[in-house]
Formats: sequence, structure tokens, C-alpha cells
Amino acid sequence: MAEQFDVIIVGAGVVGCAIARELSRSELSICVLEQSSDVGNATSKANTAILHTGFDCVPGSLESTLVSRGYERLLAYSEHCGIAVEKTGAILVAWDEDQRAELPALQEKAIANGYHHTRILESSEIYEREPHLGPGVLGGLEVPDESIIDPWSPIVAFATQAKHAGVTFAFNSSVVSVTTQDGRHLVTTSQGKYSSTWLINAAGLFSDSINDYCGHDEFTITPRRGELIVFDKLARSLLSSIILPVPTATTKGVLVSPTAFGNVLLGPTADDIEDKNATATTHDGITRLIEAGRRIMPELIDEEVTATYAGLRAASQHRDYQIHLHADQRYICVGGIRSTGLTASMAIGDHVATLLEEAGVTLSANPRFREDLTMPPLGESQCRPYQDPSKIAADPAYGQVLCHCEHVSAGEIRDAARAVMPATTQEGLRRRTRAMNGRCQGFYCSAQVLECFEVSSDE
Ligand SMILES: Cc1cc2nc3c(=O)[nH]c(=O)nc-3n(C[C@H](O)[C@H](O)[C@H](O)COP(=O)(O)OP(=O)(O)OC[C@H]3O[C@@H](n4cnc5c(N)ncnc54)[C@H](O)[C@@H]3O)c2cc1C
Repeated sequence: MAEQFDVIIVGAGVVGCAIARELSRSELSICVLEQSSDVGNATSKANTAILHTGFDCVPGSLESTLVSRGYERLLAYSEHCGIAVEKTGAILVAWDEDQRAELPALQEKAIANGYHHTRILESSEIYEREPHLGPGVLGGLEVPDESIIDPWSPIVAFATQAKHAGVTFAFNSSVVSVTTQDGRHLVTTSQGKYSSTWLINAAGLFSDSINDYCGHDEFTITPRRGELIVFDKLARSLLSSIILPVPTATTKGVLVSPTAFGNVLLGPTADDIEDKNATATTHDGITRLIEAGRRIMPELIDEEVTATYAGLRAASQHRDYQIHLHADQRYICVGGIRSTGLTASMAIGDHVATLLEEAGVTLSANPRFREDLTMPPLGESQCRPYQDPSKIAADPAYGQVLCHCEHVSAGEIRDAARAVMPATTQEGLRRRTRAMNGRCQGFYCSAQVLECFEVSSDE
């Protein structure tokens, strides 16, 4: 017998979790099917972690609307839940005359996207603010509201609220087919069968396959790999804002950005590839990044590297999100969410709820949904548990630091193991606590951290 739900969501990335959270406000029975063992374990775990204003979106596109709405939603939500976000602002830098000539048009584009706060800067002002930039800056565009955010906590927060409100999460469940039986969707996974009235496809890189299972072919996903270098915290003093390049038609380009965890990011590259699982970094990609970084901020390249990683954008042949309502089939496709999905996630959740209502679904209030949620403070600018005497006095485990690079305490490891949406893997633990993410990458602390994690998980 297939388990029955009102709504099945395929994919527990930031988009699927945001949709689950928004729909869990209503009394629908909802199941999220995820092929991996955790939330946010695909593209959503490996991005640049910028909360975009949407100043450079294609004006009039759905992406433009949802990014600017999503920016406001996620900013307010992060402040409400204690998720780290810092309004560092960005400077888009022109390195040649052609790029400088484009700045007024970029400013016009920002206005067309409803963003009115950009300002064209002379090179002298840019060097005053960012003295470590390489030689040759000709001018720039200030985007004061671009922000950096902890990219992992929103996903766990959305899933936590959804689960509290009654949403079922089925992990390690890869959807392999979708058929129709008695007017309902019959979804077959690697773990069993599920049946639902409505199906929502938030499968990221595989959203085209799920769309195909449902008989549609509006788009094909071509993974666009982005490789990044994470520099040590000692590099953080080299810059105060996000340093953006002038974007091209296919990419926002290589940027240098502070992170909410106190590091500095250089990247991403943008290479169209075939393999949807090719998330390893490459010699060529890292070499190109170092070359670009040497031009943007030469001193950065002499700093220590903490890690490298790659993420795959779900790019399609269209320059806009592929969100389609098929009301007659009771199917919503939420595909092609390429390089802005973290920012837009909450607005996408709202948009999907609106589409359901337009299709005649009644969204009556779910008394189990709880607005209040406090997430662990992971940001470098926040007061971490090891810095909080009252927290340590109440529970000495918060004063017992196990990961010394990132100052993560035994109390936080324990909390992550026992949370509503708990860490079940080492990677999941890293994203929920920062443990083993620092300079030593777990070389010194992993034995103690993982022992504490195992003991806490078993209790
Ligand atoms: C290099 C890079 C930099 C970026 N920078 C930013 C940024 O600074 N700011 C920003 O806002 N956005 C950024 N993005 C974009 C953002 O990360 C994505 O838009 C967002 O993570 C997409 O989320 P998603 O939930 O759609 O996809 P995913 O996170 O990929 O989630 C889809 C989920 O579906 C699951 N799934 C797939 N197929 C199946 C199946 N058959 N059965 C069950 N489950 C399935 C997958 O396992 C996965 O967990 C960046 C992306 C990249 C790659």
C-alpha cells in the first residue's frame, strides 16, 4: 500500500524545505521525498552564501520578483530566528573601460528591478574603502544592501518548522517514477511507494527528470559548476564588502566575499558540464580562480587556504526560473532555480502556496505551526555559546570546547544530534555547528567531536 498524502514535495534543498515550511502553515498532509540522507545536501550546501538584492536580475522576470521579495523575507526571518546575516554591501568593480562604460546601464537595470540604492563610485573612493584591491580599478557601482548569510541554517530552520507542524521527511528515498492511479499521483521511490493529490517538483539538478516523469519537457538542466576557495580567517581584514565583477550573460563572475563564518571566499567559476554528480574541484578551475584572485586582491592569494569546494547550479536553456502550474494534473514544477535560489527560497514558498490557492486548494490554518524558532548562533559576529557566561553557567557543556578552530562546544554537538531535524552524518554535523570546518578541517578535533556526536545520538 502506498502512503497517502495531500502533497508530495520532491527534494529537500533550500527550495523544497521553504515550500514545505510555507505549506505546513495549512492543514494539508505533506511528505518531502529526498534521495539523500539529509536536508540541503546537494546544490544548497555549496553556494556563495550571498543574500542578493536582485539588482542585476533580468527585469520583469519571475526571478527578479522572487529574489527581491525573497531578500526581504529571508532577511527578516534570519533576524527573527537568530541566523547570521551581515549587510556588508557590495562594490561591483570595473577593471577596464568597457566595464566602466557599463556601470550606468547596470544602475538603470537595478532601478528596473526595483532597487534604487546603487551609486556609481570613483576609483579613489573604492580604494579608500577597499585598500587591498589590486591596481587598475577604474570605477564601480555600490550596492549597499547586498549581504552575507549563513547558508545552511535557513534550510534546517525551514525543515524544523515544517516537521514540528507535521510534515513527514522521507530520506534516502530517490523518486524513480511518477504515474497516475485513480486520479492521484503514484510516486515510486527507492524505498517504497507514496500517493498524493498534489505533486511539487523541487528536485534541483534533477527537476527536468521529474518533470519528464510527469510528461513535460519545458526545460533541460545543464549543470553549471562553480568552484570556490575558502581562505583562512586571517584574510578577513583584507576587505569589508563583497567585491563583485561586472556580470556577463552566463555568470555573475568571480567575486571575493567575506563569509558569515569569518572567512573569505574567492569564486565561483562557471563551467557547463554534463555530469550532475561532478562536484569535485578541478586543477583547472582552482588555477583560474587563483589567477583571477591575484588581479582582484593580490595579497589574498598569499593567505592560507582552509578549503575548496564546488557546487552545481541547475541552469537551463531559459534565463528565468521554470515554475509552472499544471492545475489539471495537480502538479507544480519548481525547476531551473540556478544561482539565486537561497535568496529567493521563502518567496518561492509563498509563490507556490499562491499557485495552489489559485488552483482551488483551501489552505486552512494548521494550529501545530509555530512561528517562533531560535537557531544556534553560528555567525562570527554573533555571541557564540563559548562566549556566553550565562549559557555556560546554566549548562557547562557549552564551555567545553571540542573544535578549537571554530570554537564549537560539546553542548552544541549534543544539541545538533538531538534536534528536531538532527544531524545524522559528519557532514550534517559540520553544517549545523561549524565543527571540523576550520583551519585544521577536523585533523585535531574530529575524534573527540565524533565521539561526543555518537554518544549524544545514542542517548
Ligand atoms: C557555485 C554556486 C554559487 C551560488 N551562490 C548563491 C548565492 O550567493 N546566493 C543565492 O541566493 N544562491 C546562490 N546559488 C544558488 C543556490 O545555491 C541554489 O539556487 C539553491 O541551492 C537551489 O536549491 P534547490 O532546493 O532548488 O536545489 P538543491 O539544493 O539541489 O535541492 C534539490 C534536492 O532534490 C533532491 N533530489 C533530486 N532528485 C531527486 C529524486 N529523484 N528523488 C528524491 N530527491 C531528489 C536532491 O538530492 C536535492 O537535495 C549558488 C549556486 C552555486 C552552485
